[in-house]
Amino acid sequence: MTKPAVLILLGPPGAGKGTQARMLEEKFGLVQLSTGDLLRAAVAAGTEAGKAAKAVMEAGQLVSDEIVLAILKDRMNEPDMGKGAILDGFPRTAGQAASLDELLAELGMSIGAAISLEVDDAAMVERVSGRYTCANCGEGYHDSFKQPAVAGVCDKCGSTEFKRRADDNAETVGARLEAYHAQTAPLISYYEGQGALRRVDAMGEIDRIAQDLAAIVEGIAA
Ligand code: AMP
Repeated sequence: MTKPAVLILLGPPGAGKGTQARMLEEKFGLVQLSTGDLLRAAVAAGTEAGKAAKAVMEAGQLVSDEIVLAILKDRMNEPDMGKGAILDGFPRTAGQAASLDELLAELGMSIGAAISLEVDDAAMVERVSGRYTCANCGEGYHDSFKQPAVAGVCDKCGSTEFKRRADDNAETVGARLEAYHAQTAPLISYYEGQGALRRVDAMGEIDRIAQDLAAIVEGIAA
C-alpha cells in the first residue's frame, strides 16, 4: 500500500457499519470516520451545521452534500489520517462519491476497497430499533441480541450510562432504508465499475463478518 488508503463501508442502517468500523480501527489502527457521528457531534454542540442538520436527521433523510462535505473535509485534513481511514456512512450519494474522488486526489490518498455489507432489509428494523451504546466508550449493545454481561454495566469500560440515538426508532428507520435504496445503493455499481467493490455477507455472527473484513484489509496491505 503506497498511498494511505480509505475503506468505504456501504450498507443500509443496521448493517453493522459502525460496529465493524470500530473493530477495524482497533485491529489495524485505521481511523473510523463516521459522518453520522460527526453530524451528531455538531448537533450536540449547536453549531450552524448542527442546527441545519438536526430536523433532517430526525426525519431519517439525508443532510445536504454541502454540510456533510464541509464536515468531512475538516476531519480528513487532521494529521491522524496517515494510516488511512474507514469511511462509515459516507459517501451516500453520487455527488458525494464524486467529491470523495476529488478530495482523495488532493490529499494523495486512494480507495483501497468499497465494501458492501449485504443484509436482508426485513431484519434491519429490529436491529436498529433495539440498539444502544455505552455513553462513555461507545460500545454497542442490543435489547435482543447483545446485552452487557452484568445488566446495566458496560462490558468494556464499566460505565453505567447508556444512550440511544434519536433516529433509532421504527418510523425513522423506514425513511432511512428508503433513502439508502434511492440514493446510496446505486453507489454499489459505481464502485463495481471502478473495480473497487467487495461484497460481504453481513447477516451472520459479528466475529465472522469481522474476519471477512480483516481478510480484505490484509489483502490491500499486501
Ligand atoms: P448514520 O449514523 O450513518 O446512520 O447517519 C445518521 C443520519 O445522519 C442519517 O440518517 C443522515 O440524516 C445523516 N447522515 C450521515 N451521513 C450522511 C451523509 N454522508 N450524507 C447525508 N446525510 C448523512
